[in-house]
Amino acid sequence: MDVKKGNGNKNRILDRTLERLANRRKVPIYVLVVLLLIYFASALIISLTAGSQKVVMFGGNPLYIYTLAGVFSSVANLCIVLMVIFCGKPGFIASITVLLVQIPMMIIGIINGTLSSMPGLFSNALTFIVVLVIYVNNRKVEEYQQRMQEQATTDVLTGLPNGFASTELLDEMVRHNKPFASVAIDVNNFKSINDTMGFDMGNKVLIEIASRCRKIADEGLSGTLDFISRINGDEYSLIIRNYDSIEAVEKTIKKYESALEEKMLIDGYELFINACFGYAVFPEDSTDRNTMINYSVAAMKEVKRINSSEHIMHFTPELLKDQKSLVIDNKVRFALENDMIGFNLQPQYDISHKLRGFEALARMKDSEGNVISPAEFIPAAERLGMIDSLDLMVYRKSAMFIGELIRKTGSGIILSINASVKHLMKSGFSEEIHSLLKDSGIPAKQLEIEITESILIESAEKAADCLNKLKNMGIRIAIDDFGTGYSSLSYLNSFPSDILKIDKSFIDKMNDSDSSKKYVEAIISLAHVLDLEVIAEGVEEQEQLETLRNIHCDHIQGFIWGKPLPQNEAEALLMGGSL
Ligand code: C2E
Ligand code: CA
Ligand code: CA
Repeated sequence: MDVKKGNGNKNRILDRTLERLANRRKVPIYVLVVLLLIYFASALIISLTAGSQKVVMFGGNPLYIYTLAGVFSSVANLCIVLMVIFCGKPGFIASITVLLVQIPMMIIGIINGTLSSMPGLFSNALTFIVVLVIYVNNRKVEEYQQRMQEQATTDVLTGLPNGFASTELLDEMVRHNKPFASVAIDVNNFKSINDTMGFDMGNKVLIEIASRCRKIADEGLSGTLDFISRINGDEYSLIIRNYDSIEAVEKTIKKYESALEEKMLIDGYELFINACFGYAVFPEDSTDRNTMINYSVAAMKEVKRINSSEHIMHFTPELLKDQKSLVIDNKVRFALENDMIGFNLQPQYDISHKLRGFEALARMKDSEGNVISPAEFIPAAERLGMIDSLDLMVYRKSAMFIGELIRKTGSGIILSINASVKHLMKSGFSEEIHSLLKDSGIPAKQLEIEITESILIESAEKAADCLNKLKNMGIRIAIDDFGTGYSSLSYLNSFPSDILKIDKSFIDKMNDSDSSKKYVEAIISLAHVLDLEVIAEGVEEQEQLETLRNIHCDHIQGFIWGKPLPQNEAEALLMGGSL
């Protein structure tokens, strides 16, 4: 592959792009030729008609031939002016030449006594001035446009093309359906250079990075056709073309990687930097310019995040999931910081349909008012280590609400709250619950804490300690989602629990087979032997309800009798209910 030739091609594409940006289009050379031909034809007509005394009849009127000379001299002058307006420097040279050539001829005419040359000379001189004024003015406008164009497409600090130029080139490539790789480059720990060595030093590092990259791109050292630009801060972008395989793309990126890793000597300081590279290829990964950029940035961020010795990553669709979770993480952080976590209350009933209490379920909307599912925001809060704040927000709000209702009605309803095991294990959990009881006025026996079975067993010893403390305070403990983990009843015996919540998946299976029904029946009997009450979760159908009644299930929580409710509806339910 002839890379040098390729680089010429790159420049042509870029020049075209830049020209379009400056809205400056060159008029093709044939326009100049046509104008010159018209000019010479007019000059010929003038010379043939100027001295003629002939008269021809035109539309019944006499027409003096010499008057045509005046008309065509205007046409000739117009051609001269158009040449300089549309044809830049060549137009200017051509027009000045023809004007200058005429002058001696006219002067000779005047000397020979042909005074008719006088107006011609005068108009020639005027045209000359007009041509000069237009040309000088055009030059100024062009220089200004050139400066504007450079500013619009060049990064001031490094002199590299900027992000705008890069996206223009990407658009061009997409439009021509030409394969390319878009590479996002981000310097590692650049902030620490700025922080420790100052802004000036940071700038010099950015300039050095640019010059190393430019050298590879301009001299075709990578074996592919490359276009490097600075997007902003310590982010650069590379567009790779003329490659024959993904390996060639990676080889090119490695070239840049090692160039950046070479020692830098700036102001007497030795510096070592490195960068992360994420890339996507057109058209395989995407055929859209913005998506290509986003994908390469996603790959770059991922390689940064995993912080391994490998600094180059090709985009894969799995990365989008990570990006999505990043968006959720930000929303959760925002909601927590702005007290935007709310709660719903799902009623729990005993088997005779008498209200037992409510489970508080966290609810969240993002800043645009879109509802986010707990299946998304609970794991995000756990990932972020913010689940305890989220739990507490729900506990506080729901306990204050239910506490008030209990005071108003004297009701014996139970408030069930969900505790993440991560939260439960934190020192100070029992103190938090203690102050929750005090502040809300809920009697301890009317507060129930739900802990998921599987995680509870994984951290059994530590959990048992904490649960015993809670139990001693008189609080009820529920084992949540029973059936999704080990389903080991004997194991659960070691926890001071009061109630078992059979997971929806078990309840759903009861419809499928008799053996599933028998299995749930066995769980309920064994739970009763262990002195545990049982709630069936996620009951939706009458048939399930009948079965659960027959196998002596104690309580029901499910859409069949009640969905999670906002506070006013929960209050109305309690007021209208029989407790
Ligand atoms: P969970 O503790 O098992 O809560 C029951 C979930 O099942 C709730 O989903 C509820 O709306 C849903 N559900 C109840 N009955 C039915 C039914 O008949 N059919 C169907 N299809 N679904 C039913 P939700 O509100 O989406 O909560 C999901 C999970 O999020 C909860 O499962 C719990 O593990 C977690 N969660 C909710 N609030 C909190 C909280 O404040 N703190 C913590 N740590 N986790 C919470
Ligand atoms: Ca629960
Ligand atoms: Ca559950």
